[in-house]
Amino acid sequence: MPYTYLTSEDVDKWTQSHDGGRRYGAMTTNISECFNGVLKGARGLPIAAMVEFTWSKLVAYFHDRHKKITEDLSRGKVWSDYAMEIYNKNAQKTAGHTVRNFNHETGVYQVLTPYNDHRGGGGNHSHEVHVFDRRCGCGKWQNLKIPCSHAIKVLQGLHLDATSYIDPCYSLNNAIHTYSKHFVVPKSESLWRDVRGPRWVPDP
Ligand SMILES: [Zn+2]
Repeated sequence: MPYTYLTSEDVDKWTQSHDGGRRYGAMTTNISECFNGVLKGARGLPIAAMVEFTWSKLVAYFHDRHKKITEDLSRGKVWSDYAMEIYNKNAQKTAGHTVRNFNHETGVYQVLTPYNDHRGGGGNHSHEVHVFDRRCGCGKWQNLKIPCSHAIKVLQGLHLDATSYIDPCYSLNNAIHTYSKHFVVPKSESLWRDVRGPRWVPDP
């Protein structure tokens, strides 16, 4: 039965192998935690109050985010704070990195990290950076879609703006679209039409 149901849907909607990279190769996410965070406080309410609570929270959520992104854009910001925080942390780690040019034509470089690294792992690692494919042997660039410290080191060495290699999903120009739809103010309950069909009453 589930199989019959799935085969009637396009494979790009439910298989990772046909999703065109939209899930960035991640099999699972914990995104439901995000909804839990949004809906916290709605638990235990009667159904109508729960719907009203969720609705007003959603409206406020869209309003606040649209306002914040609009302000950020007007101040010339390009990327989300989330992405820039990760990027800046990575950029700070490039100091001790050394780049070996491997193949300029295929965009392959080797980045070496030194001994006595303060971070975990102790340093002394070698990473293969593929600029054209936007991936690094450490796995972080392709997974987060934000250049890792090794990629930043290579891109800076090539005199490229490494921030332009951050994935467009983090751009504020795209984020604003998410919050640009408008909600309509709900009608007052006194203007609601009478219900046709069975009426639901609370269990006394
Ligand atoms: Zn890396």
